Amino acid sequence: MTLNVNGNAKLDEVIEKDDGEAGSSSSENDDIGVDMSSLELKKKKKKKKKRKPTKKKQQPVFIPSSSLGSIPPEEPLESSESEVETSKWEERLRKGTRTYSIPRFGSLLDLNYRSTLDIFWTSSCRSFQLYTKRLVLRQVEIGDTSAIRRIKMEPIVQKTQLYGSPSPGEIKDQFQNRYLRSSIPRANSGDIGTSSRQEYVFGVTALDPQSITIQPGGSVRIAHRITSAEGWLGNIGLSLTTTSPNSSSSSLSPKRGEIYLHPTFEQCAACGLEGSMFYEIHPQLWGQGLMSEAFEEVLRFAMEEIGCISVEADPTTSNTASIRLCTKYGLRHTHTATENPYGKPQMFHRISKDEWFARNGREIKDVWGGKQVCRWCLNFRKAPPIVACSGCNWAKYCSRQCQLADWSLQGGHQSECDHNQSSSLSP
Ligand SMILES: [Zn+2]
Ligand SMILES: [Zn+2]
Repeated sequence: MTLNVNGNAKLDEVIEKDDGEAGSSSSENDDIGVDMSSLELKKKKKKKKKRKPTKKKQQPVFIPSSSLGSIPPEEPLESSESEVETSKWEERLRKGTRTYSIPRFGSLLDLNYRSTLDIFWTSSCRSFQLYTKRLVLRQVEIGDTSAIRRIKMEPIVQKTQLYGSPSPGEIKDQFQNRYLRSSIPRANSGDIGTSSRQEYVFGVTALDPQSITIQPGGSVRIAHRITSAEGWLGNIGLSLTTTSPNSSSSSLSPKRGEIYLHPTFEQCAACGLEGSMFYEIHPQLWGQGLMSEAFEEVLRFAMEEIGCISVEADPTTSNTASIRLCTKYGLRHTHTATENPYGKPQMFHRISKDEWFARNGREIKDVWGGKQVCRWCLNFRKAPPIVACSGCNWAKYCSRQCQLADWSLQGGHQSECDHNQSSSLSP
């Protein structure tokens, strides 16, 4: 297992590029052969447009130890806070700090909500990534709007998917907004203590965009072409549902008065935690096994790191490539159903946890289960939380940002803390 701390300059550039305003799209008409000086110029222009330039930290690239993928080492946390910083944080984390709600629909991506979103969407929420040989599966960014739209408005993609022909507004509202919500576990619940992570949605991006072949389109008509493999190429998601009759969606969530521990495989099994995968990729990238790579990794992640008892995928009968993927990775056809608003028959495929482990010759080992995890971002791949609320002994966070997010949420920690009368908090 190796961790390349030098990161990947290209990946950074992609992230930087995607950090622009919603809806901006320069890549659409970009010529790959554009010379450096004009690229440089474009970058500068972009920078000026930014409302609040935030320094992006270099994301370490994890190189899986096998072609199947592997569990990465725990990410260390940044510690050390100066006294000045501590008192600044205490100032922000006083009782009476203004609280905000997280809108359920639409407005999450609105420009006028952006400063509030910056509080809730912490760097730890944003940084959850999976790696394959050629891909980085990352969280959605604000600047992904046009790339997401390009794929969802593509007739040939719509033919295989269930969502029909959504308008640009619907795409932003029902998809990008949803992808973003998925990275803020609390955004999926109105009530305190009832939020666990219900969904992981990853943007499929190339580790090295230059190495990806962009098909000319050929026999199929493509309405929304791409000219480069930079940025968002598609998405792959994993929805999580508890199916046991004795459990609810809150069974695996942080509880008031308890230090949050990442659910063990046993707890996941007791709740009947099932995963369901969904995915799509731009048609000009079809046929080179990119989605196959992403599919294998998300399936491994669901089994080895989350602890799903089974994972399912339900491609439409016309989506032969997707059906092939299911079969390739051991998901067996269980039934065909048409109970969806579009009346498109779907072929349900499923693989159980035991089948997956047996198939891949891996030992069932619960690496993350039972470990202390930040109760805001629930990022279990990070080292145990180092920030503790001084008003109670059970609210722990990976960072001050996550603590502030919980403190600033309407109905969040400020209202549930044991000593919510206390005037200040310290680590
Ligand atoms: Zn956190
Ligand atoms: Zn507290």
